Amino acid sequence: MAKRPTRRARAVCFLAPCAGLPLNRRVPAKVIVVANQKGGVGKTTTAVNLAACLAWAGRRVLLVDVDPQANATSGVGFEKLPGASAYDALLGQGALAEKIQNTAWERLELVPSEPDLCSIEVELSRMENHLQRLRLALGPVASNGRFEVVLVDCPPSLGMLTLNAFAAADSLIVPLQCEYYALEGISMINRVLTQLRDSGVNPKLELLGVLMTMYDARTRLARQVVDEVRQHFGELVFETLIPRTTRLAEAPSFGKPIIAYDKYSAAAAAYELLAQEVAARLKL
Ligand code: ATP
Ligand code: MG
Repeated sequence: MAKRPTRRARAVCFLAPCAGLPLNRRVPAKVIVVANQKGGVGKTTTAVNLAACLAWAGRRVLLVDVDPQANATSGVGFEKLPGASAYDALLGQGALAEKIQNTAWERLELVPSEPDLCSIEVELSRMENHLQRLRLALGPVASNGRFEVVLVDCPPSLGMLTLNAFAAADSLIVPLQCEYYALEGISMINRVLTQLRDSGVNPKLELLGVLMTMYDARTRLARQVVDEVRQHFGELVFETLIPRTTRLAEAPSFGKPIIAYDKYSAAAAAYELLAQEVAARLKL
């Protein structure tokens, strides 16, 4: 029979939290949106792998897919099933909490997307508080202490779904592909950020960081683009550069984040470092 802990031993158990697993104190989750209206810059790859690496490091993470392409959903091994997404919750018909699914990885949970989510753009635009629908739906989930971080993956547009994500978020990560037109995507986002703050839709939204993706150290262009972006954004640019590697492109076809697909790859190491930087910037 297991020995009953002494009174002293019980007190120690109670006072000492596990390393990396802080006591659940109902601290509201930090809501981060991953966005850039340019397509194919690494938004989904970043949302999935950052979420997985934060969970791996002991954080309780919710990944919310609001892109009708549902790539983040399939990226963590889920099918794009009708009725599984945030659709109803965005229309105020049911709780978002009912849509949360466990993934195959500890501490990582998912609100999936589905292709039908694209038709919600029109429905939302007719509703009252049309920019605040995701914030209202996410509110109870983000504030009850169940998650420490909520990561929202957005479509490649500044449509109603992305604007809802901006309105619901505390902060924004903008992935920029290391290519000549990288800065194009961010000028529009800067303008929208200013508008959201000035109009009162989300005065507290801040740019958490700019992430350089698909970095190929062998090309001079990639180095020049990183230099130029750093000149523009200074320390807002994450130190971590995400390398261009086929392992990252392969992982989603197995429905796995890189840390589960190829734990010892350079890409897994990069996303682990990014998770550390993000946790430090969020003061987690
Ligand atoms: P969309 O705008 O369509 O939502 P996105 O911005 O979410 O695209 P991803 O889907 O993450 O971009 O990436 C676009 C493509 O590039 C995908 O096929 C992905 O697997 C691949 N990819 C992303 N990051 C890398 C990388 N660092 N190295 C190699 N391939 C990558
Ligand atoms: Mg995407």
